[in-house]
Order: sequence, then structure tokens, then C-alpha cells
Amino acid sequence: MSVAGMRADRKRMTGSVGLVPTMGYLHEGHLSLVRRAREDNPHVIVSIFVNPTQFGPNEDFERYPRDEQRDRGLLEGEGVDVAFVPSVEEMYPPGFDEWAEVQGPVTERLEGRHRPGHFRGVTTVVARLFRIVRPHRAYFGQKDAQQLRVIRRMVEDQHVDVEIVPMPIVREPDGLAMSSRNVYLSTDERAAALALPRALTLARHLVMDEGITDAEIVRAAVTELVGAGAETALLPARPEALVEPALSAGKGRAEPPRLALDYVSVSDEQTLEELDIIDRPALVLLAARAGATRLIDNTIVVPKGEPVPEDLQPLVDSDAATLLTSSPPTSDL
Ligand code: AMP
Repeated sequence: MSVAGMRADRKRMTGSVGLVPTMGYLHEGHLSLVRRAREDNPHVIVSIFVNPTQFGPNEDFERYPRDEQRDRGLLEGEGVDVAFVPSVEEMYPPGFDEWAEVQGPVTERLEGRHRPGHFRGVTTVVARLFRIVRPHRAYFGQKDAQQLRVIRRMVEDQHVDVEIVPMPIVREPDGLAMSSRNVYLSTDERAAALALPRALTLARHLVMDEGITDAEIVRAAVTELVGAGAETALLPARPEALVEPALSAGKGRAEPPRLALDYVSVSDEQTLEELDIIDRPALVLLAARAGATRLIDNTIVVPKGEPVPEDLQPLVDSDAATLLTSSPPTSDL
């Protein structure tokens, strides 16, 4: 659909409009945002746009997974009014030079440091979508926690009249946060990736059960667990997972893949400033690479004894969680 077509459809809508911006290849995480938007508003618009300006030159823009027909089918099933799928040419016409940029630590650190220009691309495309769609509410996943905060800042800076609604992370049963990029993972890489939710489970345990307030202790424990990703991750979360390592071994494979950690951050939940002492709600943010695939994940932690946020869900199923407290792996696994 063209931008003009989108504007025309929007003009006909009365009552509130919810927007869910996505890059497509939809999964249950995206659909949870869509369903919430449907509950809150008589009209829902979902944009699907793989935004070239938020990818670095060596990133996966070209190979990013796309399946427009399937996405449209899913959105139809959810009762969405419009699936807005603009072309790159329409979003970025020749001579385009209208960047929306948020300055300061919230964009410079973490993802901003590892992906220069990423947030400038994100805020630019979201600002454009807001101008075209004029939503009353826009829905963003806590999965991209820093992005959510950057967008809040953009909306404040530019006085955009839209309510930003944050939504919890949707996970696979074994704890892996859903992501369109998970499709890139080999079986071994996917197993190794489970070190992320397990490390976050450990962080929650240390802060919320053990009462640890020294952020450095949490960073070190998380780093160690992810660093030991190959072994830890290939422990079975459920008995059937035993089959995979056995199969790999049978094929005479060399080392299973490890995660390469980009960062572990323990920061103020609102400002994302790095904390020394966890004396308020904090975000534990992780970024790591499994082979060529970059993964991010995070959890909120609150100091022991402080009220736990209502939407704080378990990260890993109970079988997997017990592994954190069980003895180290034996060599015959
Ligand atoms: P993307 O298509 O990856 O750009 O994601 C579009 C929106 O869906 C963003 O607001 C994401 O934060 C959100 N999202 C992606 N994965 C998840 C997930 N596992 N749980 C909740 N929201 C998600």
C-alpha cells in the first residue's frame, strides 16, 4: 500500500488508532502487541517495513527474513484494519534528508555503541510512521528495551501526541526470547543461545532472592555464565534435548558454538545509566552473538523486598531453572 493510500484509509477511521511498527516475519511477540492494540483501540494499523537505515553496512539487511504473504494472513486473522507495507522508495524518496535523532547517553551506549547509526535509523522511521499514521497509541516490545526508551525520548523531544505502550517479552517455552532472527540459528547455536535467559534468571535470583546490590557481582556472574555458554547451554532443559548433543557428537563435530558476549549491563531502568549499586529497579541487558546472529535479551530486577512488577514472568521453564542450582555438567553429556 502506498503512503497516499494509507493516509486515505486513516482519514476514514473514527475513534482511537493503535499502531504496531514491525519489520515483519511475524511471531507471537509481534502478535501480543497487535492483540493488546486491538483491545485498546477500535482501529489497528500494523506497519511492516525492513528499514534499511537502521542496519549497518555489515549487517543483515539483505538477508533479513521476509514473508509478506504469511504476515498478511496472520494480521487478517487478528482483525487488523490495515497492514501498511510501504516501499523503501516511498519512505526514503530521492534527496531525503530529514533525520530524527535523539542525542545523549540513551542512544550512545550499549546498542548505540555496537551499532553506530542504528537508533538514528529507528527514530527516523518511527517519526515518519507517526506522521503518516497519526496513531493515538503505539506499541513497542520490552525485548528492545533501549529502543523503547529512545522512542519515548524522541516523542518527548518532538512533542509528538502519542501514547507509547510497552509490552512484555514473549519467550519460547525454553526461555529464548522470540525474534525474527532466531530463524538464522543452527540447532547448536540455538541451544547455546539459551545461556541468555539462563543468565538473566541467575541475575534475578542474585538480586531479588539473595539481596545482592553490588552491580559488579551481578555483571561478573552473568558474564561467567554466558562465557560458559557452550557447556551450560547444551545441558538439557528437558529430557528430549539430550538427543541433540548426542547427535552432534555422533557426527564427530568439533566444539559446539559459544556465545560471543558484546555486553552485560546493569543499569537504571529508566535512564539506562550504568549502576554501581542496585538500589532501585534496574535492567540487566545482554547482547551476544551466536555464530553470525546477534541476539539481545533483558530483564528487570528489583532490589530484594521491593514490589515486583506485575508483568514479571518466569524466564525459563522450571526444569531449566533447576539447572542453575544443580551441580556442574559431567563430561559424558
Ligand atoms: P521487529 O519486527 O523485530 O522490529 O519488532 C517489532 C516490535 O515487536 C518491536 O517493538 C519489538 O520490541 C517487538 N518484539 C519483538 N520481539 C518481541 C518479543 N519476543 N516479545 C515482545 N515484543 C517483541
